[in-house]
Amino acid sequence: MTFASLGLSEPILLAIGEQGYSTPTPIQAQAIPAVLAGGDLLAAAQTGTGKTAAFTLPLLHRLSDAQPARNARGQVIPRVLVLVPTRELAAQVAENVRDYGKHLKLRSMVMYGGVGMQPQIDALRRGVDIVVATPGRMLDHHGQRTLDLSAIDTLVLDEADRMLDMGFIHDIRKVLALLPRKRQNLLFSATFSDEIKALANTLLNQPKVIEVARRNTAATTVRQTVHPVGRDRKRELLAHLIRERNWWQVLVFMRTKHGANRLAEQLRGEGIGADAIHGNKSQGARTRALAEFKSGKLQVLVATDIAARGIDIDQLPLVVNYELPNVPEDYVHRIGRTGRAGAEGEAISLVCVDELRFLRDIENLIGRGIDRNLVAGFEPDPQERAQPIRVGRTVIGGGRAGSGPRRADAPRGQGGHGRGDAAGGHHGHNGHAGQGRRNDSQPRRDGGRGASRGAAPARRNGTTG
Ligand code: AMP
Repeated sequence: MTFASLGLSEPILLAIGEQGYSTPTPIQAQAIPAVLAGGDLLAAAQTGTGKTAAFTLPLLHRLSDAQPARNARGQVIPRVLVLVPTRELAAQVAENVRDYGKHLKLRSMVMYGGVGMQPQIDALRRGVDIVVATPGRMLDHHGQRTLDLSAIDTLVLDEADRMLDMGFIHDIRKVLALLPRKRQNLLFSATFSDEIKALANTLLNQPKVIEVARRNTAATTVRQTVHPVGRDRKRELLAHLIRERNWWQVLVFMRTKHGANRLAEQLRGEGIGADAIHGNKSQGARTRALAEFKSGKLQVLVATDIAARGIDIDQLPLVVNYELPNVPEDYVHRIGRTGRAGAEGEAISLVCVDELRFLRDIENLIGRGIDRNLVAGFEPDPQERAQPIRVGRTVIGGGRAGSGPRRADAPRGQGGHGRGDAAGGHHGHNGHAGQGRRNDSQPRRDGGRGASRGAAPARRNGTTG
């Protein structure tokens, strides 16, 4: 099957070619004709399946086929509204819209909270066909009468399950009430909880249902290994592996910006070409580092989870978790950076005793154990005991089982008593079950409900709009 056979127009096919895609992914093959036909859609698809292009490509086609919508003053007003749960996803989707629509005359914009309203208002004034937004900021604009929704003929809810997890259901219902009744609705969700089904029932009209094989990118296509190692020997081990195995284009993940900076510096100190990207770096510095990394000039790129969300690189050979994420879903996102679209990938995690609880949560989430592999000369000391881990201002773990996260400014415990779980050991303990692991200080919008996806409804810092 080709993209051309799906009926997409030349400028879109050209852009797809420039992205390097040759064949539609399964969700694209099914969704593109359905969206072009104009009906509603209910799609079960996870990140990594090509779901963004699955709705973006046909919507661009349809928009460019028709005349722009204008208000009484002649301004172009949006016809497509894409709602997403987080800023990062909003930025990513908007970037895809720009990439795929680069040979079309359509205008798009991204709208999320935490940044000034004015640039968004200016963009709306200049005229926009497609808005990609988080619900809160979108409602703010509507409330201030800066956003005209009267011409919206297509609504996309992307990662709807995450939106519900994050407590956006009321916002979504408010938005629905503001939109013209006659419209096309596309709902994308990785999971189908009762809540999603209820939403689908009220939102969708005789939808086509598409379910692509649950491409559990993490569990199936990526080779995963854990190298147990002592807490203080990770850097040495990483440098050893990079040299020994001649690694290039390695994306290394850290939990914190500070850690990312320090590691990149230390690697440079050892003569390994490394740079860090994270939220505190200027856009210019990030773009430069990324370009060097993509072109193969930069050997190692050290990134935080949030910074990495914006990176769109296909088929990285290798992802290294220098630190395991405390939010297990982040592990899946991280390793989804390698082995994309069917290519083989490898994910290696350097795990010390402090992180075994994170490892167990990850294994629970992906539904299987990850192979342990000791590297000769770097075996962890079986006597080493778990210590608390700091994530921003929160401290996780340590000796007080069941205590959950603590603020770093609270007195620290002695750490590690009674856990007795050395890094080489087996998993399966569940002594920490039910502990909160939130690393942000914002109240959850759903008051703690909505843990419908099992392990961790925890969200990361400031990602909601
Ligand atoms: P998504 O599931 O939308 O997050 O997309 C996952 C990744 O797959 C993105 O990096 C896309 O650039 C890439 N991608 C999307 N469609 C295709 C395709 N047909 N062939 C190869 N890569 C694709």
